Amino acid sequence: MASNPGNVLIVGSGHAGVELAASLRQRGFDGPVTIVGDESALPYQRPPLSKEFLKSASDTGLPLKGETFFPAHQITLQLGMRATRIDRQKREVELEDGTRLSYDHLALATGARNRIPPIPGLDHRSILELRTLQDAQRLNDRLASLRHVTVVGGGFIGLEVAGLLRARDIAVDVIEATPVLMGRVLSSPMSAWFRSFHEQLGTGLHFETLVQGVHRSGSATEVRLSNGRHLHTDAVLIAAGIVPNAELAAEAGLAVDNGIVVDDRLVTSDAAISAMGDCAAYPNIHTGGMTRLESVQNAVDQARCIAARLTGEDRPYDGFPWFWSNQGSARLQIAGLSNGHDGTVLRGDPDGGKFSMFLYRGDRLIAVESINSAADHMMARRLLAARISVPKAVAADVAANLKELM
Ligand SMILES: Cc1cc2nc3c(=O)[nH]c(=O)nc-3n(C[C@H](O)[C@H](O)[C@H](O)COP(=O)(O)OP(=O)(O)OC[C@H]3O[C@@H](n4cnc5c(N)ncnc54)[C@H](O)[C@@H]3O)c2cc1C
Repeated sequence: MASNPGNVLIVGSGHAGVELAASLRQRGFDGPVTIVGDESALPYQRPPLSKEFLKSASDTGLPLKGETFFPAHQITLQLGMRATRIDRQKREVELEDGTRLSYDHLALATGARNRIPPIPGLDHRSILELRTLQDAQRLNDRLASLRHVTVVGGGFIGLEVAGLLRARDIAVDVIEATPVLMGRVLSSPMSAWFRSFHEQLGTGLHFETLVQGVHRSGSATEVRLSNGRHLHTDAVLIAAGIVPNAELAAEAGLAVDNGIVVDDRLVTSDAAISAMGDCAAYPNIHTGGMTRLESVQNAVDQARCIAARLTGEDRPYDGFPWFWSNQGSARLQIAGLSNGHDGTVLRGDPDGGKFSMFLYRGDRLIAVESINSAADHMMARRLLAARISVPKAVAADVAANLKELM
């Protein structure tokens, strides 16, 4: 280990925070490492909350590491404790109980929270969210009594939950403000495929529609839509995107713009503070612009990059983005970012539910979206990361072996 960062303090006990602590130890760092997290549960994986967790109705979640991992690696965990202020002059973080923790290096991994649209009549009792284990437990507790759910937002999480609810024969209406599903991340043909897929599951889809109000009377809830329809529902699940938790950084005077701004080494505007994961906006060498990603791959790879820097291997962050989402029987896997694509090539059989869309800018492959085609996805990740393009004719030919391009 070439350098010693001293005492490392991590705020946030999610995917990024835990990975940083684990990677520091894996790389031989033997100084003090502390994680402060405001959730009281042992750090857990978020993706299963809208997937396996809801299917099994188990109430423990899936831990990121076993309980003994943290003491065994001399990682101090302070859970159920919010960091409320950063004193950059003294290099201290103040916690909600007034305790002050000092740091030589501070890593912010504060994640994000759900964006709650300002809907008249929407109160804490009538809404369901899905960000934390507690949210998922609340939803699970209510599942048996639900006959109809209104999902606000046609993004990944809203549609994953819609698929699970339909599998339990619970009626679902998804309210989406834009004309398409998952429009921020998917190509138009893939988005259109999901539209028909969810319609076939029996999910009601309302496009270019807003929820104008929620009215509760006794146990009955009525949702008023901008398309003139009124829905009688048992629960309103808000899945309308997230807001990065950047206030702690902003109040400390760090640069914030759609997340905590970091440079290509994930350092904030203060050299003693890094930021990573859902809360961080970073210069993306693959797209050339500032990006803030919301994925496990991004959180984990950024944490590993910071651990490498703090232990003497300083290199720019060049993680290649990939994502997944399970909706009903469709396993969607995405490699790369589709922003700015101007051409698509279909590979496989959309009607049979097994295919990929290869997305191009000019003749250059920039992303691949796959449905139930794990082999295409794995090859696409390798090719894209190695910056090898796939000729369009090869992409279209399911018999062509992509491995031969490596
Ligand atoms: C239901 C659901 C399903 C998902 N499915 C997928 C998927 O299939 N694939 C995928 O790639 N990604 C998925 N994601 C996204 C993925 O979980 C996130 O990108 C990932 O959790 C980001 O990790 P993080 O460490 O940056 O933030 P988080 O995991 O959000 O952790 C941040 C932690 O910091 C805490 N915190 C915030 N402020 C403070 C403070 N001031 N003091 C102390 N603690 C604080 C938060 O409470 C939280 O515990 C899903 C997310 C959700 C919610």
